[in-house]
Amino acid sequence: MAQLRFHALQSILNRQMNYDFSKEKTEKISDYYAANVFHEREMEQFLSKDVYRRIQECIAKGARLERDLADEVASGMKAWAMSKGVTHYTHWFQPLTGRTAEKHDAFFTPSGGGRSFEEFGGAQLVQQEPDASSFPNGGLRNTFEARGYTAWDPSSPAFIMGDTLCIPTVFVAYTGEALDYKAPLLKALAALNEAAVPVAQMFDRNVTRVTATLGWEQEYFLVDDALFRARPDLTLTGRTLFGHSSSKGQQLDDHYFGSIPERASAFMRDLEKEAHKLGIPIKTRHNEVAPNQFECAPIFEEANLAVDHNQLLMDVMEKVAHKHGLRVLLHEKPFAGINGSGKHNNWSLSTDTGVNLLSPGNTPKTNIRFLTFFVNTIKAVHDYADLLRASIASAGNDHRLGANEAPPAIISIFIGSQLTRVLQDLEKRVKDADMSPDEKTDLKLHIGKIPEILLDNTDRNRTSPFAFTGNKFELRAVGSQANCSSPMVVMNSIMAMQLRKFANDVEALKKKGKKKDEAILNVLRKYIQQSKNILFEGNGYGEEWVKEAAKRGLSNIRTTPHALDAYADKSVVELYKSLDVLSPEELEARTEIYQEDYMMRIQIESRVAGDMALNHIIPAALNYQGRVAATLKSLKEVYSAAEFKSLAAPHDAIIKELSQRITKIQQLVKDMIEERKKANAIGSVRDCALAYCDHVMPYLEQIRYEVDKLELLVEDDLWPLPKYRELLFTK
Ligand code: ADP
Ligand code: MG
Repeated sequence: MAQLRFHALQSILNRQMNYDFSKEKTEKISDYYAANVFHEREMEQFLSKDVYRRIQECIAKGARLERDLADEVASGMKAWAMSKGVTHYTHWFQPLTGRTAEKHDAFFTPSGGGRSFEEFGGAQLVQQEPDASSFPNGGLRNTFEARGYTAWDPSSPAFIMGDTLCIPTVFVAYTGEALDYKAPLLKALAALNEAAVPVAQMFDRNVTRVTATLGWEQEYFLVDDALFRARPDLTLTGRTLFGHSSSKGQQLDDHYFGSIPERASAFMRDLEKEAHKLGIPIKTRHNEVAPNQFECAPIFEEANLAVDHNQLLMDVMEKVAHKHGLRVLLHEKPFAGINGSGKHNNWSLSTDTGVNLLSPGNTPKTNIRFLTFFVNTIKAVHDYADLLRASIASAGNDHRLGANEAPPAIISIFIGSQLTRVLQDLEKRVKDADMSPDEKTDLKLHIGKIPEILLDNTDRNRTSPFAFTGNKFELRAVGSQANCSSPMVVMNSIMAMQLRKFANDVEALKKKGKKKDEAILNVLRKYIQQSKNILFEGNGYGEEWVKEAAKRGLSNIRTTPHALDAYADKSVVELYKSLDVLSPEELEARTEIYQEDYMMRIQIESRVAGDMALNHIIPAALNYQGRVAATLKSLKEVYSAAEFKSLAAPHDAIIKELSQRITKIQQLVKDMIEERKKANAIGSVRDCALAYCDHVMPYLEQIRYEVDKLELLVEDDLWPLPKYRELLFTK
């Protein structure tokens, strides 16, 4: 029974590792960077001048593609791909399952008489109808009307994976509703552009386009593949449902930023090379806090591309890990008792004039611009905090938010003491009434000083879920396996809505006779007053903050199904509708998909925990009990009754504790199954998810407690599951 664990450990002992430290690198990254991407460089080479110009124009304007242009582009793409040995193509999309989907078709087309040719035209490039009836659709697509289609997103370049040309696409129902993560993101970005350009033009008439930028930081664990396979919980749920803490965990902080173990390092080198070939600009890598935990991050990019690149990277990670006999754990909380993994989303806005709108400038004018976008972000997050919370909700992330390692489930904003003072000053100095020339000069001088102030703004607070970090906001509460699109749709939508309001508010004051700058500052002052209760500089992990936040009226929504209710809020439905990001039907369907996803994940965890308890843990405990009982029996034969009495005590204690815990586990598993049955009988998806959360989930913790106690008691030789010390410290 415990054989799998020992085979796994044996295979690690026998592993040959021949890493060549001295090998000179002959290739520069720039030699192969983006080699597998159909970028401008490739387009120039494989498309005619005219086609190249037209497609660039389409991409810049987000315009519809004429059929003849699609044919031309397809033919160039095919020629490029075939020059690299590619034989297949696929539409690559992001269904709401959370990962990516692809269905490969060969270019090859038989033409009779044993002849064939390679075909790939505009029709195949632009649209496909995958039989995708089993992707989640929240009731939008009846299975008898199973058609959904994928449509090319020309703003994200095609790329090659293996022998396949991959074309980034959106995935929509036949009736037009979005069924993926990309479609609403593109719409949110369009809405943002539309709302932000007029505001950016208040400061510079030359701005014609505003895009959101995203730089994600991906945390993950690496574990040995053999050990991974010996753990049904890791294989089936992505996290360990049982496992006593290792005597040594992360308490020495000796892993964080330490020298990267050679095996992980070899994995990272390979990963980076593959990522670079795909044009993913990975720039940093380091150890994280927990043992065997790591992080990598790229240089930021336009948000849509950055999201695609993150999805792609997660895929590539798994493939590369496989080659190294490793497994990547992307789950938010693979191990209890040590840190989980997140994916910080660094977000900002940039213009086609090359300006980062969240970067303080060095004149009063550029700083009013900075303050405008800065304060509007705070107001947007303040007004839609519950929506932002919903966007990062997942079964896995519930284990992080609020635990003592990740930002709490309370959405608050950290801006640093210096900027706090700037906002306080603004609130004090700006007047409704017309300001005197002296007051104005004073204010301008004040605003001009922001960049100097920021230079020594080093008091970064790591416990905040949403922090301003110099020239961008960093959303730290995103889960490690999440699709960044979810929070990015929210950030860009709420910002679009907020900037719309801002433009109107400023216009209204100008109509009342206020000068532009004064009108802007007046509106900002009002926003600061309305939203300052979300600003928090203290320790976000502390219990005091939970109390303080409650006093301030901030939400603290700890679990996913409760958080998802925000999507049904009237203000949210209205937001998405008026921005044309998601229709009420799409939003409802999407929410149901998230609820169902949550419910199914907990259901699977609960089943796996039950099976493992009954098939792995209890038999191991009984086996050990048998051994102890057998020893007891032989002691009885050897010793006198008086001697035996004192000798029997430790055996007796073990046998009894084993019995108690086994009985408890059996009962808990039984009760948990009963709760599952009750939950399954609930008709509404929302209520079913809530039942799984409130009534099934608690059993997982209780069973785990007993199992982990048994792990400490049962003879190591008999324990069937690789232990934490083996999973976490095998390098
Ligand atoms: P850390 O949070 O670990 O200290 P850094 O400050 O080095 O990390 O940067 C984190 C991420 O922020 C990087 O991926 C970087 O590309 C990204 N970033 C920097 N500037 C911007 C920006 N203007 N918009 C979006 N992301 C940005
Ligand atoms: Mg960070």
